[in-house]
Amino acid sequence: MSPVIYPRLAVIGCGLIGSSIIRAAREAGVVGQVVVADTSAIYREQIVALGFADHVTGDAAEAVADADLVVLAVPVMSMASAAAAAAPGLKPGATVTDVGSVKGHVAEALTEACPDNVFVIPGHPIAGTERSGPEAGFAELFENRWNILTPSDRDDAPYREAIQRLTTFWSALGAHVEEMDARHHDLVLAITSHLPHLIAYNIVGTAADLENVTEAEVMKYSAGGFRDFTRIAASDPTMWRDVFLTNKDAVLEVLARFSEDLQALSRAIRWGEGDKLFELFTRTREIRRGIVAMGQESAEPNFGRDRDKH
Ligand code: NAP
Repeated sequence: MSPVIYPRLAVIGCGLIGSSIIRAAREAGVVGQVVVADTSAIYREQIVALGFADHVTGDAAEAVADADLVVLAVPVMSMASAAAAAAPGLKPGATVTDVGSVKGHVAEALTEACPDNVFVIPGHPIAGTERSGPEAGFAELFENRWNILTPSDRDDAPYREAIQRLTTFWSALGAHVEEMDARHHDLVLAITSHLPHLIAYNIVGTAADLENVTEAEVMKYSAGGFRDFTRIAASDPTMWRDVFLTNKDAVLEVLARFSEDLQALSRAIRWGEGDKLFELFTRTREIRRGIVAMGQESAEPNFGRDRDKH
């Protein structure tokens, strides 16, 4: 077990991600007291019953009082209001981070809401499932997953030390940590996560609307590739609405490129250009093999859950 890194941890928004952080931090022994604030009364009851927090409240400012690390784990468009609600209670010298799937928008919101005497270090663990709520969390979620931190351009020693401490914390939870510019993060995630979700939502919607294929047939024959799309398309509607609305520019940029490539594919099919299809499918197969070789494929034999998300 590692030594305690943060004597007091406050988590604002304790759903899938927030509760997984607490479980993993508890298991690693890197936090002392844990306080949770969540606006959902039902989730607050569940968190009390699950027993992983020392105190559960609906008041963010109360939760962050005296906290050394504050993690905001609410949907992206709720980050600004959650940070504003917590701000009056923040202890000088505390580290404030988040787990939002979009970083440009959240970094601006946190910087604006927080006082200058705390260290704001936005972050995004590339790990998740399509489930929500505190009961869905689990301690192994971040193991061997990347967590991207998008610090500001401050380079004074106390800020760098706060980044180092946060990096040590995430490493203790099993994650690999990398620093990245927030806008670059949003472009990378637009292609690796946001566009795939948009495609999944769209294909499942299209299948449901097809007039001459019944819903029963769609479900019965779903093994032919469709089933994996339905899993992704079951992801939380609030979370994903927020992602698309706050990462609009990057998503539209990769979507335009995707549409061009799709046009090229449809032309190849129309004109019987099998060599073009074969060449693309061979290249994409290599990409999949590369992902598997890096240990980032979706099937996790250890936990039997899909963690290849967002
Ligand atoms: P979740 O399971 O729905 O949990 C979010 C929790 O935050 C809910 O209990 C919600 O309550 C609460 N909440 C909302 N606004 C709040 C506020 N202003 N103050 C306090 N609590 C508030 O969501 P999640 O999947 O953990 O996602 C949380 C964040 O992680 C999002 O920003 C998402 O982009 C990011 N993320 C998610 C994944 C993933 O796979 N799910 C992966 C990486 C990152 P209500 O239900 O009442 O709104």
